Amino acid sequence: MISLNNVTKTYRDGTSALQQVTLMIETGEFVYLKGKSGSGKSTLLKVLYGQEKVNRGQVRLADHHVHKMNNRKIHKLRREIGVVFQDYQLLSYKTVFDNIAYVLEVTGYPKEKINDKVIEALEKVGLKHKIFEYPSNCSGGEQQRIAIARAIVHDPIVLFADEPTGNLDPQNAYSILKVLHKINKSGTTVIMATHDQSLVDKMPSRVIELEKGYLTKDRSINHTMMILSSRMGEQYII
Ligand code: ADP
Repeated sequence: MISLNNVTKTYRDGTSALQQVTLMIETGEFVYLKGKSGSGKSTLLKVLYGQEKVNRGQVRLADHHVHKMNNRKIHKLRREIGVVFQDYQLLSYKTVFDNIAYVLEVTGYPKEKINDKVIEALEKVGLKHKIFEYPSNCSGGEQQRIAIARAIVHDPIVLFADEPTGNLDPQNAYSILKVLHKINKSGTTVIMATHDQSLVDKMPSRVIELEKGYLTKDRSINHTMMILSSRMGEQYII
């Protein structure tokens, strides 16, 4: 379970990024975090995984009171979560295998099991055949799938995806979306920030919307599908 209770975040320069945000996300949900650029999506994700401290309010992630955690504890928390970004952030001098295995090595995962675990993660994103390639020999869509494999290889309790399709064409964006939904179906909570309504329409789910740091909408999956079906002029089968 993930929750924000009356969270306010103002950056040092006075920019107000989140204003009294309260929300709750259950384990196993797939949630789109929607909003225009600058609405506070990245900041909301960052306060959830402890990258940014809140000024006011409480942040809970599973058993963790994230708003109270010191840097050492945040560091440990990161080992329980996965994050993917718009710009993949793969290490260009490491192979696909090494980019992913690295995560397991730093967390002290048993050496003899690393091989199988990396293969398993790559199979989940459909890229086992790229295991010995370097990122530069992979397309943008493939690099994002490698980044996703890296983010899920340690079986995180939640996967945060910050505009993961931002650099991709519609076809590759859709394939990334399908991968994220597949990961969610296998039990991982997924929170995906996007400004792209067409993606939400393709695979409807709960939508939380931010505007200028305020939470302005929180629509359940059924509500999202009802809106979609009325726009399409037909009943959507739920
Ligand atoms: P989004 O992800 O929706 O584009 P952000 O969370 O990145 O929104 O930004 C929300 C607001 O906070 C914006 O006004 C942005 O300029 C500001 N902001 C983000 N990061 C910082 C920072 N490190 N320092 C100051 N202001 C920031």
